[in-house]
Amino acid sequence: MRLYDSTMKVLLDPLPFTPYVSSNLLEHTKHVVFINGQVVCWAASQSPLLTSSQWQMLQSALNTESLSFSLAQFQQQQVAGHVLSIDCDLPKAFVLLPLRAVLLSLPSATAELLNYAMQLADWHDLHRYCGRCSQPLTDHPTERAKVCRCGARSRYPTISPCVIVLITRGTQMLLARAPHYPEGRYSTIAGFLEPGESVEQGLKREVKEEVGVDVCNLQYKASQPWPFPNSLMLGFHADHAAGEILIDNHEIIAADWFDPENLPQLPPPISIARWLIDDFLSSC
Ligand SMILES: [Zn+2]
Repeated sequence: MRLYDSTMKVLLDPLPFTPYVSSNLLEHTKHVVFINGQVVCWAASQSPLLTSSQWQMLQSALNTESLSFSLAQFQQQQVAGHVLSIDCDLPKAFVLLPLRAVLLSLPSATAELLNYAMQLADWHDLHRYCGRCSQPLTDHPTERAKVCRCGARSRYPTISPCVIVLITRGTQMLLARAPHYPEGRYSTIAGFLEPGESVEQGLKREVKEEVGVDVCNLQYKASQPWPFPNSLMLGFHADHAAGEILIDNHEIIAADWFDPENLPQLPPPISIARWLIDDFLSSC
């Protein structure tokens, strides 16, 4: 069962691809290419999955080195990822598109692969050298990890856990506005965990910091990987326990209790924030 049919849905099915590690990049038959956080697509089809001949055409036209890595087995193909650092125009057969727009336009299985590819591309790009001895890191031959000759411990892909919670009091929902939201939009409370903190501790701390209230009866609902850049959203419902709303005026610039029949503009349906709200409304 899928909670959403939209591209950035909350996911319950198994991954539609198999993570794949191989040092032989020549055996890969599909290629995903990123430039400055955007994805290269074949212009005629708008597809981000380039064939080997398309990838070779792009490489020879740009004549630049790539940071390349083994990615996944997907629909009977081995897929590789590549990061290019260029600031020149692409050949006319290609187009460079924002990741968010491409994700929304793809079938869900391909979107999940692209989500995975983007997060790994970001990790490879930011982990080229050892932070202890400054030598170039190399890929572990069989694991998704980077190693250094100096013996520093292996580095694994970065995932940043983030709690996101809908707080309710009776049928009312506590929704809040962050400074970067579109005019009029309110959403749930969210924040990153601190090292050494449990998910429950992080949730209560974030809620207290941002809107000043205490919560109880935490109930885990669903999760969503979010590739901007590497968040794992852990979605909860919580009951209001005590306290009046007191915003921090930094991460949150407005917050209020809303009745189901008098809601503000809500986040888009692709987000887990909206799913948490819709899930609660369906139970009212
Ligand atoms: Zn080192």
